[in-house]
Amino acid sequence: MAARPMPYLEGLNPAQMQAVQTLDGPVLMLAGAGTGKTRALTARIAHLLAQGKARPNEILAVTFTNKAAREMRERLGRMMGEAVEGMPWLGTFHAICVKLLRRHAELIARQVPQGGELREIHLKSNFTILDTDDQLRLLKQLIQAAGIDEKRWPPRQLAGIIDHWKNRAWTPDKIPAHEAQAFDGKGVALYREYQDRLLVLNACDFGDLLLHVIDILQANDDVLAQYRRWFRYILVDEYQDTNVAQYLWLRLLAGGHKNICCVGDDDQSIYGWRGAEVGNILRFETDFEGAEVIRLEQNYRSTPHILGAASGVIAGNKGRLGKTLWTEAEEGEKVRLIGHWDGDEEARWIGEEAEAMQRGTRGLDPYSLDDMAILVRAAHQMRAFEDRFLTIGLPYRVIGGPRFYERLEIRDAMAYFRLVVSPEDDLAFERIVNTPKRGLGDKAQQTIQVMARANGVSLLEGARLCVRSKTIGGKGGKALGELVDGLDRWRAEMLDGRDHIRLAEEILDESGYTAFWQNEKTPEAPGRLENLKELVKALEGFENLQGFLEHVALIMDNETQAEEPKITLMTLHAAKGLEFPVVFLPGWEDGLFPSQRSMDESGVKGLEEERRLAYVGITRAEELCTISFAANRRVYGQWQSALPSRFIDELPEAHVEVLTPPGLYGGGFGATGMAAAQQSAMSGGVESNLQDKASKADVYNSPGWRRLQANASRPIRQPTEAKNLTIDASAVSAFGEGDRVFHTKFGYGDVTGIEGDKLEVAFDKAGTKKIVGRFLVPAAQ
Ligand code: ATP
Ligand code: MG
Repeated sequence: MAARPMPYLEGLNPAQMQAVQTLDGPVLMLAGAGTGKTRALTARIAHLLAQGKARPNEILAVTFTNKAAREMRERLGRMMGEAVEGMPWLGTFHAICVKLLRRHAELIARQVPQGGELREIHLKSNFTILDTDDQLRLLKQLIQAAGIDEKRWPPRQLAGIIDHWKNRAWTPDKIPAHEAQAFDGKGVALYREYQDRLLVLNACDFGDLLLHVIDILQANDDVLAQYRRWFRYILVDEYQDTNVAQYLWLRLLAGGHKNICCVGDDDQSIYGWRGAEVGNILRFETDFEGAEVIRLEQNYRSTPHILGAASGVIAGNKGRLGKTLWTEAEEGEKVRLIGHWDGDEEARWIGEEAEAMQRGTRGLDPYSLDDMAILVRAAHQMRAFEDRFLTIGLPYRVIGGPRFYERLEIRDAMAYFRLVVSPEDDLAFERIVNTPKRGLGDKAQQTIQVMARANGVSLLEGARLCVRSKTIGGKGGKALGELVDGLDRWRAEMLDGRDHIRLAEEILDESGYTAFWQNEKTPEAPGRLENLKELVKALEGFENLQGFLEHVALIMDNETQAEEPKITLMTLHAAKGLEFPVVFLPGWEDGLFPSQRSMDESGVKGLEEERRLAYVGITRAEELCTISFAANRRVYGQWQSALPSRFIDELPEAHVEVLTPPGLYGGGFGATGMAAAQQSAMSGGVESNLQDKASKADVYNSPGWRRLQANASRPIRQPTEAKNLTIDASAVSAFGEGDRVFHTKFGYGDVTGIEGDKLEVAFDKAGTKKIVGRFLVPAAQ
């Protein structure tokens, strides 16, 4: 019999081949970044399918992000030469657990005190998934009800503690004695109440998704046996970042057949703060006896300089398992290092560099924006880039945070949808009962709360009772009646199978929410209306409202369709497992990266995790990696000065090229410095800076750098003061029509008119704007 062609095996090295072909029994693949772990894992799925060992629905494959799941699906399609149908169980722990929990929700039941008596309450399959905001609101209510001073004991802290417990799979009954003192000794009781409230609300938080499933599997032998039969093969990527609860879950499911293959890299464990335990890797061999451990050493992703830089940094960590990495790739470019005056300047430089790379620079082939990524340590760093890119019209996408869905108007609209899907979603009800304003202030809302509690019903039902009994009368009562009727009508239409997109529009219109923003005269109102339209557009990709809500609750990346090429902006944490030809790593400053918190800690644990994050960042790059830092940065409205990150000192000299920051040798960062920077940018731009190479030591010893340092060590600088530094007073009066000018935010432009102290400027990329003269500096023609 002729062997079936197995294109997915082509090009695999012997170690990968072994990982792909050892199908039965436990396998642990432990290897450094870019060695083809994910590729081997994907080929293994292809092999399982091609060999007929399992059908697509019999394979459970866990990835760390939704994006990674999508990429694995695509890779699988390419490997098999056809789109793979099915694979319903390929996804993140959370996504898989939601599906399992929807099937078995009713098995979660507890006696909960309600209306003075104990009632058995079951979770229902249409449960809501709470986001952090809802969770905090609920905890706040519980803290207030317990008479605890929420200033001293903030809800956020309690949320952190509960999360910590859930990551360890500790239900309220299982909290160990040494944790009992948490939250002034009231943590456990509040945790229990919180769980009870969630059940009453028919809601789960993120941690519950996993915890409930573990509960169900542990308490119901038949269900466990069913899934053990069902998931014949289990595969886990990024295994180093699983927490105890996830580990327990895996051990339960793999307990029978033990066909489990985990792949990971201890050097890339970056979720310790969320309860991940590298120890799970070490425990694997004990828990799954006879496990085959496979090591991969050849890196296929990065150039030797990039690998060298990454290895140099990670070498600073103690207690590593230790690995060898080598590559056959050509030497390539050194990792580039550049310092800037402030965060805006850094964003401006990276924007220009991205454009230069798009055109092809320094004899390199042009790169597409899709090939480039900016990986930041903290989400707040993104704003400077977003602003800059919007100004110069550089297309970008933000991945890794549900930014869009965090906006006020989106959250309001979603609360309406949630309430239509789950009428007992009290948190959603609270959010929208008086949004837009319906004359239902605090008093009316309290009346609804009391009514609901007295009758042991949801707030929506409580509201209905208030309307019927006329407990709330007048204008407010009428408006409340309309709201209740509206919600009933929309729900009936939904159950009737009405098109969910039309329904969503109708909900927003009939509830008065759209009109509310139309009537708002604030500057941001038009943007909010745009966003609402975007939201309705986003619904198109889903079958119904519930599917959409689930997606949003789980979303880890802000999906954008593949239209024009875009540069990617994301956090380092979200970049795990991904790769890009060109990577920018901005903000390498002590206090930002490594984070202040990790530096303040007494031990080295936090710092080591930050160092692993640096390793993850550098190893995302295939060909070009640029690390940068700024001497000043505005964090939450405050200017802060910083020193370059200690990780920069750990980069081996041999693999690093230091670029001269614009203005460093230009007489400081005052008006002349800016002008010099522009001159240099005008006379060949980035290239000329690149030619002006200097060694790291040269830069650090240069007068310019010392000046930068001297300025940097000033504690806090006011924004206006910083702005003033770029102003050349003598230049203001010198502007005339036709002059070429530069603005730190809008870039270059020509003066087209003068009105008092304002100039009309036609900017090259940002369009025509009126600008006060002192915010402009002259630029060369
Ligand atoms: P990370 O630790 O960052 O998750 P990884 O070990 O999962 O990395 P992959 O993403 O699977 O690595 O592979 C890195 C790159 O190397 C990918 O572009 C992949 O296609 C390529 N690659 C993997 N194995 C081979 C091989 N045998 N031959 C050629 N290229 C390979
Ligand atoms: Mg991987």
